[in-house]
Amino acid sequence: MYRTACPSCGAEVAFRSAASVMAVCEYCRGTLVRDAESVREQGKMSAVIEDYSRIQLGTSGLWQGKAFTVLGRIQLRYDAGFWNEWYALFDDGAAGWLSESNGLYVFTVDAGLAEQPPLFDKLQPDMPWRHQGQAFRLADKREAQCTGGEGELPFVVGAGWQARVGDWRAAEQFLTLDYSETPVRVYLGQAVRLEDLRCQLLREDDAIVAATGRMRGSVVQLACPACGSALSYPSGLATQLVCPACAAVVDCSADTAQVVAQGQQLAAVKSALALGETGTIDGRRWTIIGRLQCQDGEGERWFEYLLFHPTAGFFWLVESEQGWSRVQLLDHWPDVDGHAVKLKNQRYVPLYSYSSTVVHAAGAFNWRARVGDRVAVSDYSGNGTVLSCETSGNEVVWSRSQRVDQGAVLRWFKRMAPAAASARPQVLKNETSLRSTSEGGSLLTPFITLLLVLNVPIWFISGLDGSVFFVTLIAALALWWPSLREQ
Ligand SMILES: [Zn+2]
Ligand SMILES: [Zn+2]
Repeated sequence: MYRTACPSCGAEVAFRSAASVMAVCEYCRGTLVRDAESVREQGKMSAVIEDYSRIQLGTSGLWQGKAFTVLGRIQLRYDAGFWNEWYALFDDGAAGWLSESNGLYVFTVDAGLAEQPPLFDKLQPDMPWRHQGQAFRLADKREAQCTGGEGELPFVVGAGWQARVGDWRAAEQFLTLDYSETPVRVYLGQAVRLEDLRCQLLREDDAIVAATGRMRGSVVQLACPACGSALSYPSGLATQLVCPACAAVVDCSADTAQVVAQGQQLAAVKSALALGETGTIDGRRWTIIGRLQCQDGEGERWFEYLLFHPTAGFFWLVESEQGWSRVQLLDHWPDVDGHAVKLKNQRYVPLYSYSSTVVHAAGAFNWRARVGDRVAVSDYSGNGTVLSCETSGNEVVWSRSQRVDQGAVLRWFKRMAPAAASARPQVLKNETSLRSTSEGGSLLTPFITLLLVLNVPIWFISGLDGSVFFVTLIAALALWWPSLREQ
């Protein structure tokens, strides 16, 4: 370890890794750059956006049998939100990056210089590239800007530093080509779950609440910056909102919500499930936080609902003329096998190819979702499931969907079977909620439900902390009060 006094404020600044060339002074945010044994200050580093990350400087853990400690991070912003790159040092001196975006994690380690990398401008989603005999396919291409940082870093970054990366996948492997510096470097690793890293010194819930004012995953209420309607989203896990009333697209990834696009809809839509509805699935209570309506090239339309659970994360439920299916994104990519694909020894044959365009969007999403977004979809079937490959301008996403029978969906969301429906007052209530959703009118009830449903489990998790419950109750009443007065 190398210690020095900050030239600006005199505080002690440590370089724990011999590979670190830069450290941010904890007290004055001075950027200290080390060369040979001298240290000079090179401007100030912007503070990181206060987020809900469970990782912090000093967090340690195990990956692939090797112990690591987190020494620094940079925050990067691009058009679909921001993410953290945590700089980790392994006990054997190797460096790695734990990248964290909306609760998804990827661990990669420096694998040296890239041999004959494609030019950044030539990168196309799904294009193949070989690294040490392994065929990878491009998953996404991103240009991002460093907006803040802390701790030690292995290269010099400052305000306005641009990151240009291409992410590639092969089965469960993840490879990043980093074009930010020349020559291009390779980082190799895989998607990980935080639980599997056996971390110590994770940020405690109390510290997150102290810094942000709320628990990760609890519902944030805000007035739409465009029209004033009530919007809500799970804190720290959604990056984008589409106002159900005026269709404005609102970026909620930073501390202050900003309108990134004005609304262009709303034609009335009628879906079987409404935003804010909750369902009990496999013993967990899930909430519908986002809803898309998509259309293929022949005009057929279907709904995609984004479901959220505070600890289990997200999944999609799709409602089409063919019925219901449950969709999960894949971290383990299939191998291309001629026209077919293969996933874990199961062969999937081509089924359909079509385009999918978002014609309606409302609610909260964990990535950029806008009306007009269009992807090319290829479906493959095998073993009773369907694998789908969605390709857009910059990105490829693989998912697996499984049919769900209508009866199961009705049970999850406590609906009556359609035949018995018309006579029951309970169902009339549902129809009222559908109608109000379709008219983009009173969304108050679903939002209050969302507020309560997401915060009550957190109240339990927080050890029945009375203040959490009290704040939730006050928030619900505050939302309800104006509508009571109007009646
Ligand atoms: Zn300082
Ligand atoms: Zn609005």
